[in-house]
Amino acid sequence: MESSELCVVESASVTMNTKNNRGHIILTYEKDIGNYLNVENIDDCLKHELLRNPWVPNTTYDFKSDLKSLITRAFRHQWLHENGSWLTYSALEGVKGAFCRICVLFKPSIHRGVQGGFIIKPFTKYKDFHASSKIHLSSNWHTESMSRAKDFMDIMNGKTISVIEQVNSGLHKEIETNRLKLKPIISTILFCGTHDLPLRGKKSDSGVFHDLLNFRIESGYEILKDHFLTNVGNAKYSSHRTQNELITLCGKILKEEIVCEANAANAFSIIADESADISGVEQLTIVIRF
Ligand SMILES: [Zn+2]
Repeated sequence: MESSELCVVESASVTMNTKNNRGHIILTYEKDIGNYLNVENIDDCLKHELLRNPWVPNTTYDFKSDLKSLITRAFRHQWLHENGSWLTYSALEGVKGAFCRICVLFKPSIHRGVQGGFIIKPFTKYKDFHASSKIHLSSNWHTESMSRAKDFMDIMNGKTISVIEQVNSGLHKEIETNRLKLKPIISTILFCGTHDLPLRGKKSDSGVFHDLLNFRIESGYEILKDHFLTNVGNAKYSSHRTQNELITLCGKILKEEIVCEANAANAFSIIADESADISGVEQLTIVIRF
């Protein structure tokens, strides 16, 4: 979710076209709330713009010409000033009338009753405007929409992080913790390798490798202590299989680094020699000099 800083609006004027961060021009016509009745998946930047700066008719707008034949009382422009935080007028052909833009953009779920004026259709009974707007503002529908709009604005204004980011941040934290657990295990293998020490003893859970890990725990490495105390046997990453896997990975990285350095040198030479080990398997030794 992008923050509001990314939703740069080129002009603050409600009657001018504006531009969102993706370079899309938001036309004045697009900012008429009547375009978004029962519309799902409205672009976040556009929604943000519609909440803050919807299209507003100018003071000379002829509301009487929008009246249906049986209605005599017209919408009054001053109501927009008095109820600017939620009330919006749509001049769109076919939907002319008053809306609650909060409820249009964050359509409340229907628990009981029928959503009517202000939410899914224009409110046009202007002689009852004050009483009806009071009823709407105290309705569960409006309260639900307001709560969702507040969460949306908090995310857009960078005050809170979205659910996706929360999940990502939880995952990121878990990855970091796992790396901290693996770090002493890998460095112990490297220590044994660089000092020609055998990793294992008579049993798989004895020997220099395990003793060095215990030594680390005694020295106060709490994350490793916690790791060995809380994880089950096959998730401790200290078995002989994991040791072999880590040794293979260390060898692979080491080999790649040597090849990389040799390739970067002006010239290099190779000496190869073959010899059978104690089990009779031929082992090829390669010495590279650069
Ligand atoms: Zn509402």
